[in-house]
Amino acid sequence: MRMRNQFLAAVGLAALSVGLALPAIAEVTEQDILNDAKTPEDVVTYGLGPQAQRFSSLKTLNRENIKGLVPAWSFSFGGEKQRGQESQALVKDGVLYVTGSYSRLYAVDARTGEKKWEYNARLPEGILPCCDVVNRGAALYKDKVYFGTLDAKLVALDQKTGKVVWRKDIDDFKSGYSYTAAPMIVKGKIITGVSGGEFGVVGRVEARDAETGEIVWKRPVIEGHMGELNGKPSTMTGKTNETWPGDTWKFGGGATWLGGTYDPELNLIYFGTGNPGPWNSALRPGDNKWSASRLAINPDNGEIVWGFQTTPHDGWDYDGVNEFVPFDMQKDGKTVKAGATADRNGFFYVLDRTNGAFLSATPFVSNINWAKGIDENGRPIYDEANRPGDPAKSEDGKKGKSVYATPGFLGGKNWNPIAYSPDTKLFYVPSNEWGMDIWNEPVNYKKGAAYLGAGFTIKPTFEDHIGSLKAIDPATKKVVWEYKNKAPLWAGVLTTAGNLVFTGTPEGFLKAFDAKTGEEVWKFQVGTGVVASPITWEQDGEQWIGVAAGWGGAVPLWGGEVAKTTAGINQGGSFWAFRLPKALASR
Ligand code: CA
Ligand code: CA
Repeated sequence: MRMRNQFLAAVGLAALSVGLALPAIAEVTEQDILNDAKTPEDVVTYGLGPQAQRFSSLKTLNRENIKGLVPAWSFSFGGEKQRGQESQALVKDGVLYVTGSYSRLYAVDARTGEKKWEYNARLPEGILPCCDVVNRGAALYKDKVYFGTLDAKLVALDQKTGKVVWRKDIDDFKSGYSYTAAPMIVKGKIITGVSGGEFGVVGRVEARDAETGEIVWKRPVIEGHMGELNGKPSTMTGKTNETWPGDTWKFGGGATWLGGTYDPELNLIYFGTGNPGPWNSALRPGDNKWSASRLAINPDNGEIVWGFQTTPHDGWDYDGVNEFVPFDMQKDGKTVKAGATADRNGFFYVLDRTNGAFLSATPFVSNINWAKGIDENGRPIYDEANRPGDPAKSEDGKKGKSVYATPGFLGGKNWNPIAYSPDTKLFYVPSNEWGMDIWNEPVNYKKGAAYLGAGFTIKPTFEDHIGSLKAIDPATKKVVWEYKNKAPLWAGVLTTAGNLVFTGTPEGFLKAFDAKTGEEVWKFQVGTGVVASPITWEQDGEQWIGVAAGWGGAVPLWGGEVAKTTAGINQGGSFWAFRLPKALASR
């Protein structure tokens, strides 16, 4: 009798747990997010782990068997408006989540490419995206999928149905705010920045309760602005007028438009900040903190723990937003808790990620001339001859001295993320070789209007190529190999334990390289430019590769003479999934 009761109890419990587990989609937990880099069966974060090393431990696919990597399916984003597709997809429990241009989000069966649901944000007239109508990805947490929209809203959707759970204003799109980055989940909070650095907005990082969307803290990144914690003013960023004169800090820029990374070990969020406003640096003497910087922020209260300014008093639109990637560096027999970033200004920085101390800066593009180098404290040694002149000192007061500066304002590297392999101990940096004519003009702040006070034309440095994928050793500072591409590189990079590096080209190829030598070992033409970040995951015992395809982004809009190298590239909007069939994996 007792046996039977125990049996019944066990059956009852089993039935109960089956009942609870019935929804096909398991919730994405905090542990799933923290362990993302170690669990190749899913991709639940932007960057394949909160540190965004974009390294997968999968090694089924290698340079020998990659010829067997074949398309499994392709999914069209549909619609007439096909613009730049810069998204990184997420995969969980056989469902792939990918965002598209014009603030769209799709849930797709990861095995078949069949659409489960689609969410289209209804965008108002008058949105002000600076650099195409892109979106870079979503975030997963518990039973929701989150993304930001071009009208500066944050949306939480039900993972199973795509129905809106909540929608919150990040800010007023009429003032120039928008949103394009992938949000980040840290300790139950959803962390976002703002886009709009060309419109005199003030950059900030903010955290919301991921369940409700209510603000927990706000941290403006420009000095003089007050932070917020639990609905009350917290602390001021910096000290008013320390590095910004007069009222200039009020429209100081520093847009936090590319999202951040997170180091759970140190409990620090790393966020980059964009150019100071306006571009015309004669109008804001001083270092202009914390524009063009990397900030380490405490995710619990929004306090700045350390800051490192890559380009103090920027005059070239060298946004400091590029991702800061935590990694452990072996140097002189010691392990250094380091972080690296390939800055728009053309230098590859390695910092101590515990305190922001400067370790090294190495040029990763040719002919840098705005600075003669970086001093031992990490501060640029400016070449004042290559800073655009003050229009007030010109004869008619309308146009300052024009200079030719390298890199061009689109940067030695732009938004497209680097990857780091703990196997090869190399960073893979998608860079571009270009310079620009740049001059300053007078400008006044006007809500919702471009706040530049500058004119510019971007030009290639070399005749045969602009794009340059470089493998950089952060310890020796050497470029170990380089792949040259005719058109500018605008896609993210992925590396794997199978000794492979993947990236896309505007010419429409997804390409794979030997991670140690740079030898090109595979390519596939997807029919339109690739400007997105590839992912890899394991499904049914096979290794898959996926990437969004669709030409666009800043280059065709802002690329001056450079845009000519990409004329004739067809637009598109799709996701491609590739797999290595089991039978070919063992060959
Ligand atoms: Ca994972
Ligand atoms: Ca900018």
